Amino acid sequence: RVAAAMAARSKDDLRSPICCILGHVDTGKTKLLDKIRQTNVQEGEAGGITQQIGATFFPLETIKQKTAVLNRDGSKEYKLPGLLVIDTPGHESFTNLRSRGSSLCNIAILVVDIMHGLEPQTLESLKLLRDKKTPFIVALNKVDRLFGWKAIPDNSFVDSLSKQSESVKREFETRKDAVITAFQENGLNATLYYDNKNLGKYVSLVPTSAHTGEGIPDMIMLLVELTQTRMSERLMYISELECTVLEVKVIEGLGTTIDVVLSNGVLREGDRIVLCGLNGSAIATNVRALLTPQPLKELRVKSAYVHHKEVKASLGVKISAPDLEKALAGSRLMVVGPDDDEEELKDEVISDLTSLLSSINKS
Ligand code: GDP
Repeated sequence: RVAAAMAARSKDDLRSPICCILGHVDTGKTKLLDKIRQTNVQEGEAGGITQQIGATFFPLETIKQKTAVLNRDGSKEYKLPGLLVIDTPGHESFTNLRSRGSSLCNIAILVVDIMHGLEPQTLESLKLLRDKKTPFIVALNKVDRLFGWKAIPDNSFVDSLSKQSESVKREFETRKDAVITAFQENGLNATLYYDNKNLGKYVSLVPTSAHTGEGIPDMIMLLVELTQTRMSERLMYISELECTVLEVKVIEGLGTTIDVVLSNGVLREGDRIVLCGLNGSAIATNVRALLTPQPLKELRVKSAYVHHKEVKASLGVKISAPDLEKALAGSRLMVVGPDDDEEELKDEVISDLTSLLSSINKS
């Protein structure tokens, strides 16, 4: 089976890394997400960002456009098919996205307010990221609040900084050094991304403004570079199914549905699936429909959703199926293949949940 899978591998079988955003409340997580999702009107639909269930997909073309200010000489290398960014920032979506104790989030952005430095939830997030060994970068957000900052919208941070007055540069240095010291006190080596010569030893700080868009190109480029170095080529191919239930929702006309992140593998209409239920037993059912939101331009069409016969990782998708009323958010989802024993898979999803609960109780 492995050999057949290897032979069939092509560029179409690459999966995109999944990115989560964490950090203290009010540091600008939501605003940063809004900013990176924003499409330039002139770009029209070219290489469009697609809104998915619980996530936003950025195809390679969009990533290239958004990082163009840093790649004028065309020397940057892009090996990924795109990036899937989870829409709900915070601890919860990060901890829910896991399978067998490891995180399905391939890379994270830890957001710190440059004016406030490290705050209680920054440290909690740091602990989660370390426990799950998730590679991450730190967005040092709200640089536009440095006193006297002159904004150049959507510019690269390095260029914007070079055009600031001496006093702004000094305030930036002081605040950035304070954050580095605070991280050091928490056992983490951090440095500005453009000074970082050792990605394994130092975490990169990328100064950003979710208001002016400055530093956003730098942040996206850094995500690309870090996933490309940290995710081996093997991991970038679509392989065994990995799927997590993020939310259980009642939708008019569809009944109870589950919103899942498919982080690896392929799901098909009609698949027999197994997942955890609220009462500690497993649910087995058949996929009735695989749904993603209509593209914005097609809002006039009747249904709010596009139906898919088949979907491939990585993406967010809504599953409509019978018997989902008691489905459990955070559960792992498995597909019963022709050679699988349904009862064994049921035991497996339940034991996954049990081991998760005991690990939560321990920490
Ligand atoms: P979250 O709780 O981390 O999701 O934070 P929000 O995205 O809701 O932002 C909290 C507040 O900070 C809002 O009033 C935002 O407008 C503001 N904010 C976020 N990012 C920036 C930024 O880069 N610069 C400035 N000046 N304000 C920001």
